[in-house]
Amino acid sequence: MIGGIAPFTTIDFPGRLAAVLFCQGCAWRCGYCHNPGLLPFLPGRLDWERIRAFLLARRGLLEAVVFSGGEPLSQPALPAAMREVRELGFAVGLHTTGASPARFGQALAQVDWVGFDVKAPVDRYGEITGRGDGAIVYRSLATLVSSRVAHEVRTTVDPRQLGETDLLEMARQLADAGVTHWVLQRCRGAGARRIDPLDDASLLARLRAQLPSLAVR
Ligand code: SF4
Repeated sequence: MIGGIAPFTTIDFPGRLAAVLFCQGCAWRCGYCHNPGLLPFLPGRLDWERIRAFLLARRGLLEAVVFSGGEPLSQPALPAAMREVRELGFAVGLHTTGASPARFGQALAQVDWVGFDVKAPVDRYGEITGRGDGAIVYRSLATLVSSRVAHEVRTTVDPRQLGETDLLEMARQLADAGVTHWVLQRCRGAGARRIDPLDDASLLARLRAQLPSLAVR
């Protein structure tokens, strides 16, 4: 179930020219979601044969294919689709929340790079994502950290939902989980009249005291 495609991007897989396949369907309901059209579990707009034909025509032009969403792990066919993309000669990327540890483990065997979205401190996952379970996500994160797969752990900071206490708690939990690099992303268009914690130099210094390799973008 593919809901859309970005045929060419330089920012979704570090250092590679990539296409992004947006998988249809996500069980969560984050308040700041920018892809509401991808949330329902409906048949995707693009069938796999069309995607395959597109990729065949891009061999030698594109280096990688990124599975994004929605939540790609919602799809039982994900590991097989990744395998096929690799057989076509592309590197494979995955953007995920880690919502399904079993499928994430299967997918990791086919993946060259993972962008892993951590949404909240463990005990606030249900509140911030609508339906997510922090303990489950951290199981996937542990699998990723102990793997040899290149990855980036990142968090979108919506000032309406995540504050100083949450971010400090997350830094501690991520460091305990073995994460060594954390990217904090500004939430586009959110809380224009709120104070963005990412503008607080003192807070960033305290976060870096726990996770020295911290980036803001
Ligand atoms: S996990 Fe991603 S796709 Fe799903 S609701 Fe949250 S932001 Fe949207």
